[in-house]
Parts: sequence; C-alpha cells; structure tokens
Amino acid sequence: MTDRITTGGDIDSYCTRCKLNLEHIVLAMVSGAVVKVKCKTCGSIHRFKGMPAVRPKSPRKEGAAAKSFVSNQALWETAMEGAKGPALPYDMESSYRSGDVIDHSIFGKGVVQKTLFKKCAVLFRDKERILATSNT
Ligand SMILES: [Zn+2]
Repeated sequence: MTDRITTGGDIDSYCTRCKLNLEHIVLAMVSGAVVKVKCKTCGSIHRFKGMPAVRPKSPRKEGAAAKSFVSNQALWETAMEGAKGPALPYDMESSYRSGDVIDHSIFGKGVVQKTLFKKCAVLFRDKERILATSNT
C-alpha cells in the first residue's frame, strides 16, 4: 500500500448494504485507522470493514495453544485445591458427583465439573474430558 489514506480519500471497503467490496470515501479516522466510510455506490455510511489481508493481527497458533494449556492447568490447580476428599479411582461402573476428584489410570487426577447422563465432564491437567460413568 503506497497510497496514503486520508479523510475524504478513497478506500476499498466491504459495504454492508451492497454486500460487496466497493470503493468508499473515508469519513472518519482514529489514530491512522479508518473507522467510518461512505459507500460510493449506495451512499450508505457504515463502519469500515477492511479486507482480511489488510489485518496482520492474528496470533501465532503455537502461542495460542501454549496459552490455552497454561490457563487450563491453572483452572485444574484451582479445582484441585477446592476439591475435597480423597481421589476416587476411575471406574465407568461408578457414578460421581460434581467436585469429586477422580484418579484416572491414563489422564491422572481430575475434578468432576458436571455430571451428565451416563457420563461426566472431568477437568484434567491438560484439558477437560468426557468420561463414561454410570451417572443417571
Ligand atoms: Zn454500498
């Protein structure tokens, strides 16, 4: 983009009325970013909707995944601290209550978040999983 965008100048934007990318007139800008435009085709005034390519603000996927792992672990630690009683061995023939600690042979310790019919949602260190139980 070599053209300098200024108020009163032209810019391509998605028109919410025409449902197309069309030429618009810039009506308002805030700190260098276009916020309001007027469609040259239909004359409607709306917020600037830039095209996806113009917006380089997508967080890197690895970073997002790592972050979600950390926050899940924090949730899990909080849940484990709040949980009472000894860890119950996981058995799909048993039924559990919300707040119970389950000791799973593969996933480790988890805290029951909610019970459902024939299963319950358990928060493990890495993520929440649905386990089969005999809950009714
Ligand atoms: Zn339009």
